[in-house]
Amino acid sequence: MRTDENGPAAAGGLRFEKSARQIAENARYIAGGVNSNFRLGMTPGPLVFERGDGAYLIDIDGNRIIDYYCGMGAMVLGHTPAGVLDAVKRQADQGILYAGQAMVEYEAAKLICERVPSAERLRFGSSGSEVAQAAMRLARAATGRRTIVKFEGHYHGWFDNILWSAAPAPGTGGPAEAPTPLAGSNGQDPDASSGIAVLGWNDLPALEARLARGDVAAVLMEPAMCNQGAIAPAAGYLAGALAACRKHGTLLVFDEVITGFRLGRGGAQELFGVTPDLTIMAKAIANGFPVAAIAGRAELIDLFASGGVLHGGTFNAQPITLAALVATQNALTPEHFARSSAHGQRLQDGIREILAQEGIKAQVVGFPLMFHVAFGLDAPARNYRDVALSDKATYTRFAHALLRRGVRVLERGAWFVSSEHDEAVVDATLAAVQGAAREIA
Ligand code: PLP
Repeated sequence: MRTDENGPAAAGGLRFEKSARQIAENARYIAGGVNSNFRLGMTPGPLVFERGDGAYLIDIDGNRIIDYYCGMGAMVLGHTPAGVLDAVKRQADQGILYAGQAMVEYEAAKLICERVPSAERLRFGSSGSEVAQAAMRLARAATGRRTIVKFEGHYHGWFDNILWSAAPAPGTGGPAEAPTPLAGSNGQDPDASSGIAVLGWNDLPALEARLARGDVAAVLMEPAMCNQGAIAPAAGYLAGALAACRKHGTLLVFDEVITGFRLGRGGAQELFGVTPDLTIMAKAIANGFPVAAIAGRAELIDLFASGGVLHGGTFNAQPITLAALVATQNALTPEHFARSSAHGQRLQDGIREILAQEGIKAQVVGFPLMFHVAFGLDAPARNYRDVALSDKATYTRFAHALLRRGVRVLERGAWFVSSEHDEAVVDATLAAVQGAAREIA
């Protein structure tokens, strides 16, 4: 069943009964039937998939769905890139896990260090959450200070010491100039906020004032805010943040888990021309295989080797995943970015136009391969407090109307685009957007 033909998809009539039954069955053995809380609470419910195919996912109800989750941003080459799959199969024939070095590690590390401006040296890990922890430990060891500055609405993983004010409900965060750290989970150690300070993002005077206290080890930020919204840094903000860090002996850490290999081959740091001390990466680095990296200035990363700073992990640099990394990086050519970006931009512009024609107030902003649609805002958001005021209830209805037309988008407003989202896929998506917009208008 294709979305560009007449039929249930075009009429907004796809059904998901088998998924609903399977999720209920899963829940006998798996909490909530899913293995991440971020997969709970979707409308009409979490889906169960049989396979991927380029830009599409095929679910167990037999629906063929255009996918804009793209593995929460990881699948920059789509679901079934032949080169990556071949490399993985070849490496799997050579063995699974050596607990020692494999030649592919050198190749993988060299590629990342050649591409990411701040990466002189690196260490590999398996998840973004984990390398965020490594960055905080390294910064504390390097500076002898404790406090890590993080920003409202920025997400750096699910661990106790950093899951603060990642998505606070509007009105709960205290004064904008000095937000109250708010826990993201029940059971989180209440003392775990004592090592962090929460600030509003894109506010340079507030950051400068906090750093002037002289106790901050690192400023950790998404260099473009992509967990909530798809917000570019204000002109001069990143350079100003770097200068303030330098002045006060603080390290600047960019979390490029979403922006890396998506805003461009060198990530947000290359796009905006500001090189941090440390960078963490994951997601698109290996197109859906579990690889993460912490990279940065050689003397900082070398603290892992000779500075008594521990970094471990059974699955670090697992060779099959690094074979996927190398093949992914080889496919991320300038031509890939040019072609995919053109499709992503046409999609973004088309959505903006359709919503305006249907009289739906919305801000459609961001980058060609990752953008955000927020309903009900009069102006583009500059920070979390702005984006938190968007009309989430109506957007959820829109996302559901799209899903029934065979297009799967995140209910938080993010759209991730891959190289498989070509002209035809964009056309089919815009037809679904038209139908969904009419339905909810
Ligand atoms: N940092 C950012 C910016 C993220 O978006 C995420 C996950 O979405 C993480 C860190 C955590 O990464 P992971 O889910 O791989 O642990």
